[in-house]
Amino acid sequence: TTRPRYRGRFAPSPTGALHFGSLVAAVGSWLVARHAGGEWLVRIEDIDPPREVPGSAASILATLYAFGLSADAPPVYQSQRQPLYAAAFERLRNEGRLFPCWCSRTDLAAAGGFHRDGLCVAPPDPSRPPAWRLLTPDLTLRWTDDLQGPQAENLREAAGDFVIRRVEGLWSYQLACVVDDADQGVTHVVRGADLLDSTARQIHLQHLLGLPTPGYLHLPLVLDAEGRKLSKSTAALPVDAHDPLPALRAALDRLGVTAQSAATTPDGLLRDALLAFKPASLRRSSLGAAATL
Ligand code: GLU
Repeated sequence: TTRPRYRGRFAPSPTGALHFGSLVAAVGSWLVARHAGGEWLVRIEDIDPPREVPGSAASILATLYAFGLSADAPPVYQSQRQPLYAAAFERLRNEGRLFPCWCSRTDLAAAGGFHRDGLCVAPPDPSRPPAWRLLTPDLTLRWTDDLQGPQAENLREAAGDFVIRRVEGLWSYQLACVVDDADQGVTHVVRGADLLDSTARQIHLQHLLGLPTPGYLHLPLVLDAEGRKLSKSTAALPVDAHDPLPALRAALDRLGVTAQSAATTPDGLLRDALLAFKPASLRRSSLGAAATL
């Protein structure tokens, strides 16, 4: 199979209805992909049942559709892809990269909050399942984000021996995301800047698993008028799928896209936005729009 020149994706977690911050990420990744003449996929990251809100995957998909954000393939669901994550886990374990850990949060807090160098605080407890952590080297990864510029992160300092499989047997976001981006042939990841500090862990996992590293572009976080992250504030309201134009205009504005458009449908507005769009005009940071929504 030939690798596409550009394949992007939007990968929401079904933890509630699509809110404005996620809409900006969806529109941003859609625009960059379409501008590149590329493909765009949607992946539902439903591997964390305790955090899942029933019905929200369907609601997110319906909202994307109402906003005119059409994907090139049916959505994939991480809950249906467990064998892929299990295979990656086995490979890492067989190569001696993982270790079992019975430490509780309290244990870790007492040890300085971080797990490093494979040193568990708690003794092994064969009576209950462990978490599996990656032995993380003292390694500084450098990469260039297509919007945020050069990045450097020391894995050991920033993430420590991070969890690959949780005590409950659930796969970590880092593992599932890396496996899926590769399996789906994603060449470019465009997402919110709250995930900038996951990128070093993901690149490291790609190296260990022999997977290609996609390009990364992290969009500015949408902050509210007080400068709080939108997803943590009262302004993290769901967007209205029955009245998409105002939120779509606000999302385009957040992204720095100024389209003169008389469009009366989301499809029309997105078409005009695409004609006006230049990746260079994406904004690195962003403040204030949510208050006016
Ligand atoms: N599912 C993650 C989230 O909603 C995003 C994953 C990604 O884009 O890499 O925060």
